[in-house]
Amino acid sequence: MRRAWVEVDLGAVRRNAAALRRAAGVPLVAMVKADGYGVGAVAVARALVGAPDTIWALGVATLVEARALREAGIDARILCCTPLVPEELHDAKSLGIRPSLHRAQDIRAWNAMKGGAWHLAIDTGMSRAGIRWDTASSLRECLAEHTPEGVFTHFHSAEAPDGTRVSQDARFDEALRALRSVLPPTVLEHRDNSAGISSRLAAGKSSPGSLARPGIGLYGAFVADRFPLEQVVHLRARVIDVRTVLAGETVSYGGTYTATREQRIATLAVGHGDGYRRAFSNCGRVLLNGTHVPVAGVVSMDMTMIDVTDAPCEVGDVATLIGREGDECLTTDAATASGSLSPYELLVGLALRAPRVFLEDAHGDR
Ligand SMILES: *Cc1c(COP(=O)(O)O)cnc(C)c1O
Repeated sequence: MRRAWVEVDLGAVRRNAAALRRAAGVPLVAMVKADGYGVGAVAVARALVGAPDTIWALGVATLVEARALREAGIDARILCCTPLVPEELHDAKSLGIRPSLHRAQDIRAWNAMKGGAWHLAIDTGMSRAGIRWDTASSLRECLAEHTPEGVFTHFHSAEAPDGTRVSQDARFDEALRALRSVLPPTVLEHRDNSAGISSRLAAGKSSPGSLARPGIGLYGAFVADRFPLEQVVHLRARVIDVRTVLAGETVSYGGTYTATREQRIATLAVGHGDGYRRAFSNCGRVLLNGTHVPVAGVVSMDMTMIDVTDAPCEVGDVATLIGREGDECLTTDAATASGSLSPYELLVGLALRAPRVFLEDAHGDR
């Protein structure tokens, strides 16, 4: 009998990918890094590949992630979006992945070993990886000999209406102009992450270039306000104890929660060791038997207490901490709306301990 688990709705992932594909207007590099944002990279990849008009490639951050996909028998294109150190290039080749490169010596080494297709990373303001847009022309000679299959950049706050996406777009265009004569006309340009796709959608536009690289949107979060995206993860846990506490008594570590009257407190078999983050201490809400009940006290590693004074509750009941119960849904975005926790971190943390249960089509009728 399970104590805590994460149900993953693979049908919802597929429909989210289709919605992002429609909005982007171009095929996707589906980002499955960090074990598919905690959701399960292999299961998500299997759910998505095989629809070539929707998914052009899978996106990873490390060779270990790429290897896990290959070992699971996934032979789709894989783009590694983070820079590799030079010693990794041989492994990248043997895994048959497309690295992101931007240093002339790496580009030359990759081509000397006949590594295959690769993508050129251009930094337009993230200051993280890639060649600076305003120095991209320094690669002209190298690129004239070794052509990339693709060229891309990454936005730092495409979700914000602060104009930075527009200026990053302009910098990317400037770099492309500087390289145009050495790039093949068929080069695959890509820039949009989930927020990029959604910010263009808000302006009635689709993604420029040939591809877009959504991650979090596939998992139903962060940009869900702009799309009909579906909740993908459902974190559930059983009630393993119920007690009465008297007025003035405290609950959990630090004694930060004090009962104001005689209260019933239930204990759930889930904690921050399962990815139910400590940020939910004293402020999270949980669905139990059709009602919303509050988290009481600090979330501990293995257990979380909830106030069930006004809710029916017995040992063995199943609570929903994230996701849908009946007609109610605690979305990833609603759970992180206070802003102290990022939906990215919440999702990624779900990979910690709770087993994942993959459902082909949990809510296809909704
Ligand atoms: C993680 C990542 C993405 C996906 O971003 P989301 O905000 O999750 O859509 C796209 N491109 C690169 C380079 C990334 O690192």
